[in-house]
Amino acid sequence: MAHYDAVVIGAGPAGGEAAFVLARGGAKVALLEKMPLPRHKTCGGGMPMMVSKVLAMEELRDLAPDAFVEADAKFMRHTWKFGDPCLAPMNPEPGDGCERSLWMVRRSVFDNALAQRAACAGAELRDGLGVRALEIERDGPVKITAEGPSGVWTATADAVIGADGANGITARAVGLRKERSLAIAMEAEVPHRWGEGHADLRPEVCHLEYGAVERGYAWVFPKGDHLNVGAGVFRPRRAGERGDTAVRELLQRAIVDYLTLLGVPKRVEELVFHAHPLPLWNGMDKIQSGRVLLAGDAAGLINPFFGDGILHALKSGQIAAQCVLSGETSGYTEAIAAEFRSNFDAALRMAAFFYRWPGFCYRHGIKRPGATRIAMRLFCGETPFNDISRRMMRLVREAAKSEPIEAKIL
Ligand SMILES: Cc1cc2nc3c(=O)[nH]c(=O)nc-3n(C[C@H](O)[C@H](O)[C@H](O)COP(=O)(O)OP(=O)(O)OC[C@H]3O[C@@H](n4cnc5c(N)ncnc54)[C@H](O)[C@@H]3O)c2cc1C
Repeated sequence: MAHYDAVVIGAGPAGGEAAFVLARGGAKVALLEKMPLPRHKTCGGGMPMMVSKVLAMEELRDLAPDAFVEADAKFMRHTWKFGDPCLAPMNPEPGDGCERSLWMVRRSVFDNALAQRAACAGAELRDGLGVRALEIERDGPVKITAEGPSGVWTATADAVIGADGANGITARAVGLRKERSLAIAMEAEVPHRWGEGHADLRPEVCHLEYGAVERGYAWVFPKGDHLNVGAGVFRPRRAGERGDTAVRELLQRAIVDYLTLLGVPKRVEELVFHAHPLPLWNGMDKIQSGRVLLAGDAAGLINPFFGDGILHALKSGQIAAQCVLSGETSGYTEAIAAEFRSNFDAALRMAAFFYRWPGFCYRHGIKRPGATRIAMRLFCGETPFNDISRRMMRLVREAAKSEPIEAKIL
């Protein structure tokens, strides 16, 4: 039976990055992915990016953006109940020497690029191989059993990184992340010819709608030859909500209405909807047990305010790999807490307010001059949520003097 320094389960951004860092660091590593690559991943594929002279995202420095960035959005068009539009730039004018934008990627292409980069660095990439069981012996290596079309595959490893997403096996196998807060989001990819439809349907504009989905938002993201149109409930009311057909119908309706109102009407039967849970941050939880570490969605690292997780998956994959390389696996939960806790806790407080009173926040927050730039600074991680949540609460107190708080909801 083969033995590895580390086995990484799942070839999303967390797993692709972890396997790359491990291989580059000289470890013998296998990257296992249950689907044949490239595979579809239900996602909007929007990634905040800061470009000055060098790419700010050191995790992506070795990749050529041209290979996977389909559009580079620099404007946001916000709406409330599909009306009251506000088109705003993401960057200050004049520029501060650092350009922020939303990279629009197709996840099948982006994730495959990360996995291939890990393979080039020396990782053994095995796609079409789903992990079925993990056996953990005290002080011994972890035994991994996986299965694919060519049969059963077994191996042992000194460490396992569970980067197997929201529905992964690793967290369950080691009894971690039992109290999860699961949001749900849905998307459809709609073929599009630029120049057709609403005048603001342009490759440099992403669209965000806040009133159509209670406790969530809807989006239209520009891609090379299509639009990614989606909607999500990012502040779930109760645990079982994601299986609720009423919620799914609401999300589908928001997607169809968005297309219609932007002049891209489609018949519902023509659309292929993909829905997927999002494990939101709900406070720091233990994400390491012995030699097993969780990264990305498996560790619940989705920002509870924006609902984004790609960059946090990359970052946590990198931190997990560094802990394995340095033999410091027991310090992993603390390392993740140091990176994410204070910011995500503040984002959670802001989410509680925003998703309760979105109409008020739209009028007094999102539409304010400069709000989109502040949102981009938050999204890029330049400005901590702590700073903004305090300022936001001050603004709310001022605005509440002129508008009774309950009227804000409508
Ligand atoms: C509709 C929707 C829209 C979203 N839009 C955005 C967005 O615009 N921007 C953003 O930043 N985030 C977005 N997200 C969140 C983002 O998709 C996730 O946070 C991100 O994919 C997490 O990456 P990951 O590597 O942790 O997990 P994943 O990307 O889920 O990868 C996990 C991988 O593990 C594999 N796997 C699972 N089980 C096994 C097994 N047993 N054996 C082997 N392999 C296995 C899976 O096949 C998968 O490839 C969105 C999510 C949804 C649902």
